[in-house]
Formats: sequence, structure tokens, C-alpha cells
Amino acid sequence: MTLRVLVYHAVCEELDRLVGVCRGQPEAGGILLGAYRGRDMELTAMTHPGPKDDRQAFSFGRSDPLHQRAHDLAWTASDGTVGYAGEWHTHPLGGPTPSSIDIRTWRSEVKRVGRPMAFAVAAPSGWGLFVVRPRFAWSTRARLKPGLAGRVGTIFS
Ligand SMILES: [Zn+2]
Repeated sequence: MTLRVLVYHAVCEELDRLVGVCRGQPEAGGILLGAYRGRDMELTAMTHPGPKDDRQAFSFGRSDPLHQRAHDLAWTASDGTVGYAGEWHTHPLGGPTPSSIDIRTWRSEVKRVGRPMAFAVAAPSGWGLFVVRPRFAWSTRARLKPGLAGRVGTIFS
């Protein structure tokens, strides 16, 4: 059972941009906004760090209220279809793969939310997209691969 994620072009472009600018910066991060379509997902937008976020060399703490505000706006504007679908952060000094702490954090978040979520890691060498499902966390930790690109976005599976 494969899960496909349609990543809107704007999100791909933002992650591409972060690849180019994250080196030498403290970690950045935010939430991924999207919708669930049956078994599949769409990632439509992402938030960016605000002044109250805790950006360190090796960690990112999301505490600025702008993330929640952006979520609430998207939720209202979409009649409750676009919401919290995942998280992203940068690895300015590493690669686009999750650390053991990332995996632990993702798994507990997916368990708390109770549905599959997407996670992106952007590093100077590229960005990776991962999906974690509540009951198959280990089997879905694998990095998704980009496939067909259409008018709206690129399908990862
Ligand atoms: Zn990380």
C-alpha cells in the first residue's frame, strides 16, 4: 500500500530555496499545511520561522504563534480541509535525513495526531520528504521519491 503525496509547486520551490540558503544558519522550521484525499495527501503550503521560534545550531523549537495562525487561516479558508499535515526543518550542517531524535519526535507526533503525516528535511545537499504512519512508522520512514509533475505540483511516492 503506497501513499502518494502531491507537493504543490510553491512548497517544492520553498524547499529548493532553503537548500540554497540554509548552510551556516541556525536551524529553521515550520509546519506543512495540507489535505488528506483518501489514502493520499496534498501539501499545499508551509510556514516559516518567526521571531519567537527557538533557532539553534542543532535544533529548532517552534514556539512562534504565527504557525498556528497560518494553520487557522488555511483551515477556515478551505472549509476545514487544509490543516496540519506535517513539519519541516533544516539541517544546516548535515544531510536531508532524519536524526534519531527527529524519528522519535515524528513518531510520537503521528501517534498523538493519529493519522499519517509528512516530514521534510532540507540540507545544503538537497531535501527529503518522509511519511510516517501511525501503525507502520518504521516501514514508512523511507524517503519518498519525486515522480510525475503536473500543473499543481509533483507527486511523491
Ligand atoms: Zn533534524
